[in-house]
Amino acid sequence: MPTDKPLRLFFALACPSDLAEAVCDWRDSQEVGGRPVAQTNLHLTLAFLGNQPAASVEGLNQLATKVRVDAFALRLDQLRTIGKDFACLMPSQSPSPLNQLVEQLHAGLSTHGVMLDARPFLPHVTLSRQVHALPDIQPPAFHWPVRHFGLYCSENTSSGVHYSELASWPLATPGR
Ligand code: ATP
Ligand code: MG
Repeated sequence: MPTDKPLRLFFALACPSDLAEAVCDWRDSQEVGGRPVAQTNLHLTLAFLGNQPAASVEGLNQLATKVRVDAFALRLDQLRTIGKDFACLMPSQSPSPLNQLVEQLHAGLSTHGVMLDARPFLPHVTLSRQVHALPDIQPPAFHWPVRHFGLYCSENTSSGVHYSELASWPLATPGR
């Protein structure tokens, strides 16, 4: 990767592969419609940085290493459309460690001089795009044990968007 080309970066939780398979099987069985997100791309964005110089990655790694948040469980129990007709799974309650994780990352990024979207954080996992009429269905409360977070680089390729994990960090063991 050339070092002078900006990288499109975001911090996220990558959906574990067994959960991603269960979620996509459910989505496809429910005829959610639209343009489905690839199973390997399911994720929950914590902070979207947009285009950043490749040289910024080292500082971002240092910032992420300072995050202190316990591992937690996420319960994806709602199906909604948000934004531009994105069908998403969402937690009806955002666990406090998730909010702490986002707050610590956002605070670190602000110190780092990275401008973030002004909209409030809305935890969601996009399942499909261009969904104009979402079926009125309840998801089966998917359980996601969240044990780490990562920094990702997004690239558009001829076969669709591809996310590369640049680094990942473990969350703390609760009670330690
Ligand atoms: P594509 O845009 O090529 O269809 P994508 O949306 O998955 O694919 P990116 O646009 O690179 O890829 O976005 C990566 C992640 O960051 C996605 O979860 C996307 O929803 C989120 N994201 C993108 N732009 C913003 C933004 N302005 N504010 C918050 N999150 C964003
Ligand atoms: Mg996008």
